[in-house]
Amino acid sequence: MPKKEDLKGKLKANFSMRVKFYGTRGSIPVCSRDYQDFGGNTSCISISIPDKNILSIIDAGTGIRNLGKELMNDKNGLPKEITIGFSHFHWDHIQGFPFFTPAYNPNVKINILMMGKGWGIDKLKKIMINQMGGAFFPIEMKEMGAHFNFLTLGSKVVQHSSNMSVRAKLHSHPGGAYSFRIERNGKVLTLVTDIEHGDTINMETVELAKGADLLIHEAQYTSEELKNRKGWGHSSYQQAIQVAKMAGVKQLVMTHHDPAHDDVFLYKMEKECQKEFSNCCLAREGTEFTI
Ligand SMILES: [Zn+2]
Ligand SMILES: [Zn+2]
Repeated sequence: MPKKEDLKGKLKANFSMRVKFYGTRGSIPVCSRDYQDFGGNTSCISISIPDKNILSIIDAGTGIRNLGKELMNDKNGLPKEITIGFSHFHWDHIQGFPFFTPAYNPNVKINILMMGKGWGIDKLKKIMINQMGGAFFPIEMKEMGAHFNFLTLGSKVVQHSSNMSVRAKLHSHPGGAYSFRIERNGKVLTLVTDIEHGDTINMETVELAKGADLLIHEAQYTSEELKNRKGWGHSSYQQAIQVAKMAGVKQLVMTHHDPAHDDVFLYKMEKECQKEFSNCCLAREGTEFTI
């Protein structure tokens, strides 16, 4: 008979990747009472693997502050290596970074994966450094303490120390943004945020999501709202569902909720979406998915 703790350990490790939403809002954080169920913090998703020493994060919106707090209170201690990958550098994807407490710990190594604008890593690095300098924040990035390692990957597949293979693809958004296909032990996670498909679905996105066990796709607007938001860089619920169907994904989670969409609205949208694609839901802050 295995000990209770052993059994717990085994059950816990029964996944390839665990995804947790810390920020589900797009554009700007919202905090009134009508936004508590789906959450008000901006984009941040953690991807953990059974090895507690390695953690990956996509985007550092305001949600990363709570993730940092959770890591600081974890009885297993901080992960030795944290990788933060950025889809792009609009405020709702970077503004939580100065409040990510583990970044102030000299024993932590943080890989910062940045791509975009055809810029080299030295120029990309300045985006992070500048948002913490001068008029914007009292503490400079070099004073934070953690060991930062800046990386870029273009669109080739890279092997991460977590045994994840990561492929990134540039898509249409003002200034450009990247989507990711992450594979580990035969499981596939695709993340697509801040994408404007336009009149037809981007087939490169469909290819990136092909057969995914979990597709996280932004859905900021209804089809009706999208008509008047051309050039704003976002998708509708309808388009996210279309990508999921075309790519034959097993599960779809929609995120990057518009700040104008309160809980009542989002519950209603979720029901509508599930009529079209049964294994889908709208992301709520604090929820986890394992594949
Ligand atoms: Zn955004
Ligand atoms: Zn954006």
